[in-house]
Amino acid sequence: MGLSPKGVRLLLEGGRALGLDLEAHLSAFSRLYDLLMEANLRTNLTALRTEEEVVVKHFLDSLTLLTLPLFQGAWRVLDLGTGAGFPGLPLKIVRPELEVTLLDATKKKVAFVAHAVEALGLKGAYPLWGRAEELAHLPEHREAYHRVVARAVAPLCVLVELGLPFVALGGYMVAQKGPRVAEEVAPLPRALALLGGGLVTVHSLVLPVAQEERNLVVVPKEASTPARYPRRPGVPEKNPLC
Ligand code: SAH
Repeated sequence: MGLSPKGVRLLLEGGRALGLDLEAHLSAFSRLYDLLMEANLRTNLTALRTEEEVVVKHFLDSLTLLTLPLFQGAWRVLDLGTGAGFPGLPLKIVRPELEVTLLDATKKKVAFVAHAVEALGLKGAYPLWGRAEELAHLPEHREAYHRVVARAVAPLCVLVELGLPFVALGGYMVAQKGPRVAEEVAPLPRALALLGGGLVTVHSLVLPVAQEERNLVVVPKEASTPARYPRRPGVPEKNPLC
């Protein structure tokens, strides 16, 4: 089936508004759309159902990250709490030179992501099942990623404890947030002082087509994260560092 002519138009026009030429990637996004729709018939994989919602709120919203220069390069990227593969899969489709690990705690979601990686023939995309609180303590994952991205996973004070331990020195964590991010950003320095994070910058943009505000919260990793972080599963959420 694939994307309709209207879906294709939204994707191309939205991409252009983000400074991206998505022409060469239409068949991959079309296939990913079909895979999501097929999976949604069987399980409640994603809440977004209409074609326009999937194109705008999954595909284009994921790609807003590429407006940041810090995604130019052959970086190792971790998508923390990827769900059905967002933002990680669109990033990997449009920037194949990125090596993308797609982490989620829900087995069903990781199974879908693995299926999509296979069906799309993506090389250098690694589905990973587990909790950030546990995986971040393993040597192969700790401070092992140049970029950690996360969308709709947790409040920032929780997210930085889950994400910064994965970021290599000199790397960045980027959280995708909606409007009204100021209250969430204000208390962050307290947590970042404990975790090795530096000065936060916020990049505001408008999501094409939907015309909604989005904020990309960028946290540089400036010092090594002490071994006690992240704390046990569930603790960061129950007792946030800020
Ligand atoms: N990023 C996706 C999914 C958001 S839903 C999107 O924007 O569409 C949040 C996801 O984060 C869920 O799939 C949940 O399983 C995962 N998650 C939440 N806390 C986690 C943790 N501590 N470790 C790993 N995954 C986590």
